[in-house]
Amino acid sequence: MIVVLAAPGTEPWVPSSAVAMVLAAWTCRDLRLCYWPRARFVEVWESTHVGPGRDLAAKAKPYAWRGWATREPASIHIFVDETETAASILWLTLHELAHLELACAPLLEQAYRGEPKSESYWQDDAAHEARPEEQLANFVADELAPRLGSGPGYHRLWWRARVNAKGTAEELRSIAGRAGLVSQ
Ligand SMILES: [Zn+2]
Repeated sequence: MIVVLAAPGTEPWVPSSAVAMVLAAWTCRDLRLCYWPRARFVEVWESTHVGPGRDLAAKAKPYAWRGWATREPASIHIFVDETETAASILWLTLHELAHLELACAPLLEQAYRGEPKSESYWQDDAAHEARPEEQLANFVADELAPRLGSGPGYHRLWWRARVNAKGTAEELRSIAGRAGLVSQ
């Protein structure tokens, strides 16, 4: 069974209950799908992690990553704002489900997670996407998202272009604001 938890403000991005039922039939375990506003990224990371990695989100660059999966309890946490669309969030949900499925297949997990993650995995898009496990998760999402009304290709590079465009728009607004102040 899949339980969908949608924090206030995330509703436009959250997959429908019909989609959640299909996902539940495709997964090997019970899990929670949690959707959060991006503004709560550090808070949610710190509430779901203990130990040395707990400060990773606070130290990361803004928009370093889009979500994560935890094994115990089996949960997926996904963050939304205007850099995502309903279609991209459905794709991302499938991507994270693929990560979680590896925990149900110890032999595959041994192979895909054999090499340690480099520091740059968390910060660098190319290093992140180069890992075989990421390529597996991208393939699963590309293959299955179209069957659920989304589409392929909503990977990190697609998202990074949206994040950069948002940054540019904010910078232009800031410059325009400053120019307005100067001219007054
Ligand atoms: Zn991933």
